[in-house]
Amino acid sequence: MSPSIAETTWQKSLAQAIRDPEELIARLNLPSSLLQPALRSVQLFPLMVPISYLNRIEHGNPADPLLKQVLPLEIETQTVPGFTTDPVGDLNVRSTPGMLHKYQGRALLMVSGACAIHCRYCFRRHYPYGEEPRTLADWEPAWKSLLSDSSIQEVILSGGDPLLLTDVRLQELCERITEIPHVKRLRIHSRLPVVLPDRIHSGLLDLFQRLTENGTTVWMVIHANHPNELAEDVEIAIRQLLQTGIPVLNQSVLLKGVNDSVDTLLKLSESLINLGVMPYYLHQLDRVSGVAHFEVAEEQGRELICELRRRLPGYAVPQYVREIEGESHKISLLG
Ligand SMILES: *Cc1c(COP(=O)(O)O)cnc(C)c1O
Ligand code: SF4
Repeated sequence: MSPSIAETTWQKSLAQAIRDPEELIARLNLPSSLLQPALRSVQLFPLMVPISYLNRIEHGNPADPLLKQVLPLEIETQTVPGFTTDPVGDLNVRSTPGMLHKYQGRALLMVSGACAIHCRYCFRRHYPYGEEPRTLADWEPAWKSLLSDSSIQEVILSGGDPLLLTDVRLQELCERITEIPHVKRLRIHSRLPVVLPDRIHSGLLDLFQRLTENGTTVWMVIHANHPNELAEDVEIAIRQLLQTGIPVLNQSVLLKGVNDSVDTLLKLSESLINLGVMPYYLHQLDRVSGVAHFEVAEEQGRELICELRRRLPGYAVPQYVREIEGESHKISLLG
């Protein structure tokens, strides 16, 4: 398979993403006082914003809910008790290189170390991605372990963002995975349909279609936190996934100043179900160092969900959950 025009289009979009705080601030007409703090913060976790995402941010508004997800702040450099570098214990469940096995019946493969956007609240901002397998040969121990464990019915491609792999690489990995007889489902966790929607092009859709036709059900879990993220190009990408027969779920993180209001969560759920996407999880923030200023109290989270239940069909209310180190599943925060 040689790279198609569409394949190079999304790669160009990725290459054009903003990585320089000065450029971000200039393009959005933001106060120049934000620059020095941003320059200090990017030393810990670099800035990255694709143009498609940038276009959804209101100019001159430092409080824009999408800007808040990407703008590096000085406060990220502060140490806050209780916020650590590996809050969910990923490094303790890394069973073979590249593979996390902590959920029953599911194996998680960290297939890509990179992301197309850098979300300031990310729980993996300190994960040692550089140590994960890169070549097909590097994956051998993971394949052996998947093959030998017939309890694994679902393989979750995660990262980083698995859709940053080229179609060719993705096809190789998916084919290896779906050759394993007991693997029935492939789940892809990706923020790209939302932040780099031109990644969803015919080559990728064809791959998903072939996997489905060969008997593997492909699920997609996207990640949008705010209704403004669901711009027109995103809607088109999502509709294409759905038309290919891929069920699409959304996960969000509850974030102070971004989506900690009934109005915002209500609009987000409505926009998602209008498109045909199921709101799946609303995550309580993982307590990773540098993100304390995003934390919303669980009590407030519960109130928000109760209010959503009053106003939305049941299937539009996400499960409010938290990841706890050592637990084999998410813990529901509504009891
Ligand atoms: C919880 C979690 C999973 C597993 O999700 P389920 O939908 O509960 O099976 C996979 N990846 C990450 C990053 C998670 O936090
Ligand atoms: S896309 Fe996902 S993994 Fe990447 S920085 Fe954002 S939250 Fe983290």
